[in-house]
Amino acid sequence: MSGLKIDQSTCIGCGKCVRACSSHGLEVREKKAYVTDSCTLCGICVESCPVQAITLERESAVSEDLVKESKDIWVFAQQSQNEILPVAFELLGKGRELADAKGCRLVAVLGEKEERGNVDRLIAGGADAVIFCQDARLAEPNAEVFTSWICGLIRQFRPEIFLFGATSFGRELAPGIAVRMQTGLTADCTVLEMDAESGLLRQTRPAFGGNLMATIICPNHRPQMATVRAGILSPLTPDPSRKGERIETFLEAQEETHIKILETIPQSDSDSITDAQVLVVVGRGIGSQKNLPLMKRFAELIGGKLGCSRPLVEAGWCEYKAQVGQTGSSVAPKLLFSIGVSGAIQHLAGIGGAETIVAINSDPSAPIFGVSHYSVVGDCVEIVKELVEELSSES
Ligand SMILES: Cc1cc2nc3c(=O)[nH]c(=O)nc-3n(C[C@H](O)[C@H](O)[C@H](O)COP(=O)(O)OP(=O)(O)OC[C@H]3O[C@@H](n4cnc5c(N)ncnc54)[C@H](O)[C@@H]3O)c2cc1C
Repeated sequence: MSGLKIDQSTCIGCGKCVRACSSHGLEVREKKAYVTDSCTLCGICVESCPVQAITLERESAVSEDLVKESKDIWVFAQQSQNEILPVAFELLGKGRELADAKGCRLVAVLGEKEERGNVDRLIAGGADAVIFCQDARLAEPNAEVFTSWICGLIRQFRPEIFLFGATSFGRELAPGIAVRMQTGLTADCTVLEMDAESGLLRQTRPAFGGNLMATIICPNHRPQMATVRAGILSPLTPDPSRKGERIETFLEAQEETHIKILETIPQSDSDSITDAQVLVVVGRGIGSQKNLPLMKRFAELIGGKLGCSRPLVEAGWCEYKAQVGQTGSSVAPKLLFSIGVSGAIQHLAGIGGAETIVAINSDPSAPIFGVSHYSVVGDCVEIVKELVEELSSES
């Protein structure tokens, strides 16, 4: 068993471990230290103890053998109302590239109430095999049920890498699985690549408030797990002629779950910017809230939706759901107009999936021009006014 052990006969109750711990994982009672439920097994207290009374035993769920035995790249195929979410296909697109680089199989993991052609869709989307389970208990996004099923699969098949969409459910499910498997998880990756030398997955994500990009590896535990937000990666063009294996699995009888789904409210996506093909993203450079209707009109005229940078949400000019970037949505339109946006790293984290970026900014050295395909230097309000006039006269 893993755990933090305190040798009570050695402990002098000095409290240095309590002060060293940042998660209230220890307390001193009657001059002896005790571990609390908040202990995260980080081990920082071990070194702080002047009398070596603390030891940390980590049950290695993954031995060296397991690291060697692990194979295949898995993608969790999240579905909602019998439809596989686009992010699963995006993960398959990247997974295909990684599996080809590694020389292993790409496997989708799909649990649903009844099959309606999703296995074939996943194979057409790039999977070599689909681990499938048909069970009414998998109809709802109940993380307890899915965790129990998936952890059983991991023990049985030992994947090397496991990718999840950073959806609300993916963000609930993946950490639970990582904890049970005693492995690491890198959330909200923006880049995934295979290290040619070590064969490890390099998982890159913004860190320290987005001021730098950190590349994280998971050398000693399996599976190497990561989540990626929708819109960051690109799906493959579906190929219905692809053939793949279907691996039938079953959900064990399970004790009563603690989660009860009372109601599922489908999200209205009519104003969602994440699936927009054409997007106009406005920033503080538009100068004033009164210029927003002009920007909206421009978006309408080119058949697009309106997104914004964070300061516009903070100023109350736009709703949060319109925010693009690290703490907003990731978008992947075919065409993105960036208007009066500086291109801060936290903003750029959300537009990496855009195919073509046209940026308008009065500052020729604005960082947005480092990623734009077409760069227009000038007053964005004046330029958009002219564009609107031109487009209106055409229609
Ligand atoms: C942890 C964290 C998370 C964050 N998450 C996000 C996020 O998700 N999304 C996000 O957008 N930001 C985010 N930010 C904020 C980010 O760092 C920037 O502050 C923000 O993106 C700047 O928005 P902006 O480009 O609209 O404004 P500014 O930085 O003020 O830039 C305005 C730009 O407009 C140009 N301009 C001015 N006048 C005109 C004109 N008349 N015509 C044309 N151009 C003009 C200027 O040259 C300038 O480049 C985050 C920050 C942190 C610390």
